Formats: sequence, C-alpha cells, structure tokens
Amino acid sequence: MAEIRIMRIGHRPQRDKRVTTHVALSSRALGAKGIYVDTEDRVLEENVKSVCERFGGDFFIHTGVKWKETVKKFDGVVVHLTMYGQKMNEALEKIPKDKDMLIVVGAEKVPPEVYEKAHFNVSVGNQPHSEIAALSIFMYSLTSGNALYEDRNARFTVIPNERGKTVVEVPR
Ligand code: SAM
Repeated sequence: MAEIRIMRIGHRPQRDKRVTTHVALSSRALGAKGIYVDTEDRVLEENVKSVCERFGGDFFIHTGVKWKETVKKFDGVVVHLTMYGQKMNEALEKIPKDKDMLIVVGAEKVPPEVYEKAHFNVSVGNQPHSEIAALSIFMYSLTSGNALYEDRNARFTVIPNERGKTVVEVPR
C-alpha cells in the first residue's frame, strides 16, 4: 500500500478540537503519513505532535492548509468520504492501491467542488455519522489494519496484554 494522507476540511478550532485531534490520531494509528487541516490551529498541532513524540513514527500535521491547492497539487488518488458517495465495497474494488492517496473528510457542510475534484466519492454506509468513524472504517478496510501494531520506534511502546497495562519506556 502506498502512502495515505488526510485532508480535513471545515475545522473550527473551538468546536472541533477533540474531533479533529481524533481524526488525526485515528488515521495515524491506522498508518496514515500525516494530516492537513484547512484552518490554522497551533494548539491542535502541539497536541498531535506531543502524541507522536511519545508514541513514535513520523506522522506530520500541517494546519492552515488550503484544500483546493492541496488537492490540485496531490500526485495520487483523491478519495472524499461522504454519506452520498458510492458504496465503499464497490469503490474499494476500483481504487488503485499502488498510488498515494489523499483522503478528504469534512466537518460541517463540504463545498460542492470537493465532490467534483475527488476521483472517488465514497460512502461508509448511507447514514450520517462521524468523520472519525468513516475514516477509521475506510482505512481499516483498505489496509486490513496492517499498521495497528507496527513498531514505531517509540519512547513508549504499549505491549498488548489481556489484563492490566504493560508499557515499555526507552529512555532518550
Ligand atoms: N452534513 C454534512 C455534509 O453534508 O457533508 C456531513 C457532516 S459529517 C458530521 C462530517 C464528515 O463525516 C463528512 O464530511 C464526511 O467526511 C464524514 N461522514 C459522515 N458520515 C459519513 C458516511 N456515512 N460515509 C462517509 N463519510 C461520512
């Protein structure tokens, strides 16, 4: 699977701080390379970077990034997640897996142009729910969850455990 990046549109720093943080962290856990957020938000950047510093990997977050330019410049497949799109399982059969992918998710109403610019408009069910759920289900279906337990060369590594918490800390 090639590289996956996320474009988050319509982020409102006060209202969406938790949801956008979780969009970033869920995509990171599922193997995304990084996230672009349209509205500048330094607090969001710091929160996500702090998790990355502790739990490893090279995930990036850039805020204040214009979606139109990002989509235009992106050299790969642009997938827009929307409840109005084609069925996920049908789309997954057509989406090339060897090209880099930019996955676009909204917050409030997404501009109609996004539907035109995306190569694929994909629904994760035809009911309204959440960008975190849509992104996680889509990425899991795309990657079979390959990144979920990958070694990230982290300061803190959580060792899966039937009970209790096992955390290994590598002193830096
Ligand atoms: N009413 C908004 C609209 O018309 O775009 C939906 C807002 S929803 C809270 C935020 C984002 O979650 C959407 O932009 C979309 O990316 C994602 N989303 C929600 N339900 C979805 C679904 N069933 N399939 C795919 N994506 C979905």
